[in-house]
Amino acid sequence: MTIDQGILSGGCLCGRVRFEVQEPLGPAGYCHCTRCQRRTGSGSSAQARIDASALRVIEGDEHVRPYRPAKGFEKLFCAECGSALFSRNPEDPAQMSVRLGAFEGDPGVRPQFRQFVAYAPAWEPVPDDGLPRFAESRGWTRPGG
Ligand SMILES: [Zn+2]
Ligand SMILES: [Zn+2]
Repeated sequence: MTIDQGILSGGCLCGRVRFEVQEPLGPAGYCHCTRCQRRTGSGSSAQARIDASALRVIEGDEHVRPYRPAKGFEKLFCAECGSALFSRNPEDPAQMSVRLGAFEGDPGVRPQFRQFVAYAPAWEPVPDDGLPRFAESRGWTRPGG
């Protein structure tokens, strides 16, 4: 039974892919791993966990492509403009994340932790913002997320 849940919307840079996510989002955090650095071209990536059942791609599903690394979550992006959109656990596709930058407006959640801080690039040190830090993965099944 879900009560009073709102819908958040978002999309890719070129506008071909549009999606909606049922609130509330799961825990959000920053990932400083080298994969996130490569796929975003930036020092870290902010994302919120969701259950796949909360996500609905309302336009442009045919443009959403997975990049499947040998190990770890699939990275889903728009094949036309390259925007990073989601990630998905290949062993449990219900486990997904949405990149916070893909949302329109304020998604409501705030990043609550930083993971893979051991890999933060020299040119962008991890900010001293008081968020809990994890040298490696925070893990998916930690209490609260
Ligand atoms: Zn696009
Ligand atoms: Zn990462």
